[in-house]
Amino acid sequence: MDTQMLIGSKFEKGTETEEPILNPKTGATILNLPEASQAQIEAAVTAAEQAFVLWSRTTPAQRSGYLLKIADRIEADAKEFATLEALNCGKPINAVLNDEIPAIVDCYRFFAGAVRSMPGVVAGEYIPGHTSMVRRDPIGIVASIAPWNYPLMMMAWKLAPAIAGGNTVVFKPSEQTPLTALKLAKILAEILPEGVINVVLGRGDSVGNTLINHPKVNMISITGDVATGKKVLQAAAKSVKRTHLELGGKAPVIVFDDADLGAVVSGLRAFGYYNAGQDCTAACRIYAGKKIYDKLVADLSSAVSTIKYNRPDDTENEIGPLISRRQRDRVSSFVERASELKHIEITTGGKPGEGSGFYYQPTVVAGALQEDEIVRREVFGPVVSVTRFSEVDDAVNWANDSDYGLASSVWTKDVSRAMATAARLQYGCTWINTHFMLTNEMPHGGLKQSGYGKDMSLYALEDYTAVRHVMVAHS
Ligand code: NAD
Repeated sequence: MDTQMLIGSKFEKGTETEEPILNPKTGATILNLPEASQAQIEAAVTAAEQAFVLWSRTTPAQRSGYLLKIADRIEADAKEFATLEALNCGKPINAVLNDEIPAIVDCYRFFAGAVRSMPGVVAGEYIPGHTSMVRRDPIGIVASIAPWNYPLMMMAWKLAPAIAGGNTVVFKPSEQTPLTALKLAKILAEILPEGVINVVLGRGDSVGNTLINHPKVNMISITGDVATGKKVLQAAAKSVKRTHLELGGKAPVIVFDDADLGAVVSGLRAFGYYNAGQDCTAACRIYAGKKIYDKLVADLSSAVSTIKYNRPDDTENEIGPLISRRQRDRVSSFVERASELKHIEITTGGKPGEGSGFYYQPTVVAGALQEDEIVRREVFGPVVSVTRFSEVDDAVNWANDSDYGLASSVWTKDVSRAMATAARLQYGCTWINTHFMLTNEMPHGGLKQSGYGKDMSLYALEDYTAVRHVMVAHS
């Protein structure tokens, strides 16, 4: 197992406080990893600064070649990466191997192509006797900070557009899930010039805090909690750094009475509970029309009660445990508080799983009302609430009545109703008759307190590059 950070071309262990890295399926410690010292963080930033001089002058085709090599190496080591991610996050091995790794490989390949044909306003004489053109240039050193729910995928979403755009990076994985980042660091050091990507370990309030406040860092990219995003903005304000924020979500799902109930139920069973609900786009806040409500609650509850987890043969598992005991207890306390309300019924689940792992039963909370905490706050666990609506306006207004604005979905057989409703939703993404589906060609990112950074797609390349105007006066 790789345990060393990548600083320039050197592999080093951190020298500060040790963090226990846990197996969420058992609660056992896999190993302890020390975090980076201030001197090691400084060395990583210096390595990125030195690498920027040449890397920022490489051609798109050259950078594309490097990205394709990274993709090939991840693909070749897919099994090892998947095994490590499953161990560190508790994910079912098949979910990592069949869903995540292909999407990760495709992310590097997408940006390898995209950077070679970036669009822009055409050059021309917008003032007589002067030719204007638009350039897109790198921003500089990017501090990239990732969460624990999809460690290798978040790393891909952050690294691929950043280095495609000609930037250099100091990357910090979540202190809870650094193992795949350390394995990838080995590969990156073989492929990339020294210092283009550096990987340092540590907690948010120590190593993360140093990175976001570092005077030489030009851009901060973070996926995490809203509270963390606000700290990033405060730090960035001091020296006006560019920020790329991907924060939480609480995705509303509007199910009209005419929706295909079978499709809704199988969709919610998959998209509400995938990754044990530790997903900022999870279909967790259902608004069901008054005619479909009872059948939806009954069918969803029985479907959710069949979700397989905590089986000894991991290839049978559909979801894993939560990332930590703390996260499991947090989810548990949300459900306990909800169940104390008279109008709420827990129709399936509602308890921690058995054993020493951090499991929580897949849960349906029926009868929830708009003002309930379970409807308003991000639970980040295998818990879905269902709320009844009578009027379309109520459903849309309740869906929009949230601090978050990342993802949403609308389920109906009526295309015009679907389009009219989608147009009114204040979310970075609205799916119709599906949920959760992402593709590297399309942007992923939010509105409101979900942040404004776009991952994947050409919009991410725009976020990681600066648009510049160059004008030439004729003679
Ligand atoms: P978190 O905010 O606690 O941590 C995220 C990362 O930020 C970690 O690497 C952490 O060490 C670091 N961090 C924490 N405090 C910091 C500080 N003061 N300075 C610098 N870095 C700091 O979030 P988490 O618990 O790891 O992840 C779960 C959260 O991420 C959820 O709220 C979830 O919705 C969100 N998320 C959002 C998206 C998205 O695309 N919008 C994707 C995945 C996760």
